[in-house]
Amino acid sequence: MLARIEGAPAGTRGISLFIVPKKRIESDGSLAANDLNTSGVYHKLGYRGCPIVQLSMGDKNDCHGYLVGDANSGLKYMFQMMNAARIGVGLGATAKSTAAYYATLDYAKTRCQGRKVTEKDPLKPQVPIIEHADIKRALLFQKAVNEGSLSLLLQSAKYLDLYHALPEGDEKEKYNLLTEILTPIVKTYPSEMGVHAISQGLQCFGGSGYCDDYPLEQYYRDIRIDPIHEGTTAIQGMDLLGRKALMKDGKAMLLLMEEINLTITAARAIPELAPKAEKLAEALGTQQNVTAALFKVAGEKGPEIFLADATLYIEMFGIIAIGWQWLLQGVKAKDALAGNPSKADLNFYQGKLFTLRFFFEYEMPKIEGLAVRLMSSDAVTVEMETAFFDD
Ligand SMILES: Cc1cc2nc3c(=O)[nH]c(=O)nc-3n(C[C@H](O)[C@H](O)[C@H](O)COP(=O)(O)OP(=O)(O)OC[C@H]3O[C@@H](n4cnc5c(N)ncnc54)[C@H](O)[C@@H]3O)c2cc1C
Repeated sequence: MLARIEGAPAGTRGISLFIVPKKRIESDGSLAANDLNTSGVYHKLGYRGCPIVQLSMGDKNDCHGYLVGDANSGLKYMFQMMNAARIGVGLGATAKSTAAYYATLDYAKTRCQGRKVTEKDPLKPQVPIIEHADIKRALLFQKAVNEGSLSLLLQSAKYLDLYHALPEGDEKEKYNLLTEILTPIVKTYPSEMGVHAISQGLQCFGGSGYCDDYPLEQYYRDIRIDPIHEGTTAIQGMDLLGRKALMKDGKAMLLLMEEINLTITAARAIPELAPKAEKLAEALGTQQNVTAALFKVAGEKGPEIFLADATLYIEMFGIIAIGWQWLLQGVKAKDALAGNPSKADLNFYQGKLFTLRFFFEYEMPKIEGLAVRLMSSDAVTVEMETAFFDD
């Protein structure tokens, strides 16, 4: 438990870490109740398998907390587990969104409704909805978000493992910085976009999706916690733009760009992927221009305007990171298809290449719109006054 000791410095520098057990061990070795009670159970939108409760401590003024480590170092200790916890939230969101996708795919293959727009004969049987382009769009969106998120999560988990496994030195430092800069993104992209992906899945079910005969309504509620806990999206955005982008004089950002550029180089050598590699290279250029423009704003107009759109900044960065992972998967798919794949493998890798195409056609263009806003000098949100919201 994080708490303050009386008289501790103001702000985060005065937070300490404690263990507060339900029962404590007395000096004679017996167990005593530690004046800690469950005073309420929260009734939540979803995530109901997890009983989140309100604890009350010290009602009888007899609750003991035991300091862990040094006083006022609580936040530093907590951050030792934060990267793994945040990667865990991204993974949980991806799991829920993936379960929703597979349920949607099953449904779309069996639910017959409507005919192809080219079929005018009302006596012809209706087609499974998966044959409609709009349903394919919704399925491709889910597949792009989920498999792109999982790929980025595995990439980050690999960096974290290398950081833990390597001896002290430059390489260890490199993987630490890569983990640090990617963590807010792997927490945020799967959480925010997973909500949209499940919503698109639910839409494929039509009215059935809104009812609890199918699991989507639960997944939709369950995933909504992920953009909130372990640091909300706004907090992750400010961490990325206000801290990580500048970390070690921008070295973390530079290292990430180097990693992305390795994939761009590999993809440029494959004719079918070369145009996508150029698009990603352009997006990296946009990202660098936006970052430089925002740092200029920080110097000229101060931190409030600089950080006002940190949520948009992390959204843009997330699309680039997932675009990178799709290009990487494309390179692997082309490799595999050049061999002699089985029919099942052929379908699997074609599915990857089509999803890559989809991501670059439907999601990458959003970067341009985000960049326009991020480089605009109109500080509308900062200048809007609380009173102007009044009716
Ligand atoms: C189901 C559930 C389980 C949880 N489990 C745990 C747990 O196990 N342990 C634990 O410690 N906590 C837990 N929490 C708490 C959770 O981590 C917090 O709810 C979450 O971090 C958000 O904090 P808050 O609720 O105080 O919201 P607030 O901090 O009040 O934020 C409200 C809104 O304001 C925005 N905001 C806040 N500050 C700023 C700022 N400076 N700039 C811009 N925007 C800002 C936020 O982004 C958010 O949109 C749980 C919460 C829920 C709902």
